[in-house]
Amino acid sequence: LSEKLDKALHVLKGHGSITEVNVAETLKEVRRALLDADVNFKIAKEFTNKVKQKALGQNVLTSLQPGQLMVKIVKDELTELMGGDAEGLNLSATPSVILMSGLQGSGKTTFSGKLANFLKNKKTKKPLLVACDVYRPAAIDQLHVVGDQINVEVFSDKGNQDPVAIAQAGIAHAKANGHNIVIIDTAGRLAVDEAMMTEISNIHKAIQPQETLFVVDSMTGQDAVNTAKAFNDILNFDGVILTKLDGDTRGGAAISIKSVVNKPIKFIGTGEKMEAIDVFYPSRMADRILGMGDVVSLVERAQEQFDEEEARKLQKKIAKNQFGFDDFLKQIQQIKKMGNMKDLVGMIPGAGKMMKDIDIDDDAFKGIEAIIHSMTPKERSQPAIINASRKKRIGKGSGTSVQEVNQLLKQFNQMSKMMKMMQGGGGKRMMQAMKN
Ligand code: GDP
Ligand code: MG
Repeated sequence: LSEKLDKALHVLKGHGSITEVNVAETLKEVRRALLDADVNFKIAKEFTNKVKQKALGQNVLTSLQPGQLMVKIVKDELTELMGGDAEGLNLSATPSVILMSGLQGSGKTTFSGKLANFLKNKKTKKPLLVACDVYRPAAIDQLHVVGDQINVEVFSDKGNQDPVAIAQAGIAHAKANGHNIVIIDTAGRLAVDEAMMTEISNIHKAIQPQETLFVVDSMTGQDAVNTAKAFNDILNFDGVILTKLDGDTRGGAAISIKSVVNKPIKFIGTGEKMEAIDVFYPSRMADRILGMGDVVSLVERAQEQFDEEEARKLQKKIAKNQFGFDDFLKQIQQIKKMGNMKDLVGMIPGAGKMMKDIDIDDDAFKGIEAIIHSMTPKERSQPAIINASRKKRIGKGSGTSVQEVNQLLKQFNQMSKMMKMMQGGGGKRMMQAMKN
């Protein structure tokens, strides 16, 4: 058929078939995706409620492409929830001091190296790494190994047990040697405890960094939220680094943390290698959390099923000469749901012409609907039995005239004939269009 019809089908396909049930189901799916991604239950629920309100406000059900609009609302809200635009680091001071904080094993030392490498590649930056994890000699060695890998100098003072003093000496060293970035790697413990909090707080107070970053393992899921809160209470940090996003984890921690501490997530770690660092983009993370492909195809599948089922039923009826006024009414109701009826129906060859005879506006439909409603179920399913006296009764009951009833019957017969004709060949696609 024509290009126009294809266009119409395209427009219609996304339309009309989404119902309140679909919306509810989609939201349920979204909530499940969030919970799967380790988002806190309460936050997930609040989120879907918000999306529902938005969906109602934007009249998803009567929009041209409800499925797509729904997905868009979900994604936009999720992106917003995670902070909108990507936020960078504040590196205006010389030197700019960046302090790492977080539990042991969260990825502080690895990320310190990654960030140094990332900034070094910007040419104007000359970073210095400072080793303030004084409890394990191996930790200092680890930072040196990292520094060698990326060709960045590492300042350390083995034997010195005072991390505050080392940090200060490191900054002095940077100033003396033309480093404009100082990245301070610190010690963490396996769980939040007072000693660790006191130590990081002392370093923080003494050096007053431009950027205090909280590094968190995204695989720790719900626990990450409590840890983030504890560190934020003490440090009022500037940003979050989400590491180990290369695994199966879907990154729900990003949402939960952002919701609880309201600080931007600035970078993500996606592997053990020094290159495995990315600026955090909320919209990309939204895709990841929703497994966007999944949700989109789910919505589409639900719609397709609906379409095909209805179209099949309708086809069977036509084949058996059972197409009646109830089906006609259903079609009208579908058509009425469309925003821009004239344009849409006009795009369907044949159907468009036929519908134009009825002069499409809501009032015109009112008359038709009234007439059909005044018919008995038997008359609806077997229009052939509508004789003169029945016409009179229907006209009276619907507040129309026998003439109008006649006109509708005539149009209905034309339509039935046309649909029977279309049974072969491209009929199936046409049915789909009619149905919508
Ligand atoms: P720290 O104790 O906070 O300094 O954590 P480390 O930097 O030593 O990292 C702990 C472990 O996690 C190491 O084995 C790292 O190689 C690993 N690691 C750190 N970041 C990532 C990441 O983004 N992805 C993966 N897969 N592993 C990471
Ligand atoms: Mg470390």
